[in-house]
Amino acid sequence: MTSEWTKARPNIDLDNQEFWAGLREHRFLLWNCGGCGAWYWPKAYCRFHENQPFAAQMSWVESSGRGVIHSANVHRTVLDPAWKEDTPFTYVLVELDEGPMISSTLLDYIEDPILIIGRKVGVVYEDHLDIGEGFVLPKFALLDS
Ligand SMILES: [Zn+2]
Repeated sequence: MTSEWTKARPNIDLDNQEFWAGLREHRFLLWNCGGCGAWYWPKAYCRFHENQPFAAQMSWVESSGRGVIHSANVHRTVLDPAWKEDTPFTYVLVELDEGPMISSTLLDYIEDPILIIGRKVGVVYEDHLDIGEGFVLPKFALLDS
């Protein structure tokens, strides 16, 4: 993509910069507990260990990038002119195979989103490396069930 980017850019900060760096390498990282194996997104304390320093046993670990659609809706109204060409689009809340939930755009436009609840999806990497310092957006695509 070389056209001018007029949409909001991702909020990349100290707490999520490793996640976004992983996306640049087309790796879908989740926050993982080395003590018990629990997965998180975004960054959090592991709920299974009390009174530990933040991130004591935690690190970003590559995940499957796959999950199941937990909820979905269709955005039909253009609230920001930058989204005019992308609207309507289907937006999904995905329960990742590792457990955490994450939401993003579904590449496939589905007019009736209730039909895709429970369908399997996989992450797709949308490169925008020529915009500012560059970033990659994680979106989802339906997988064969
Ligand atoms: Zn843990």
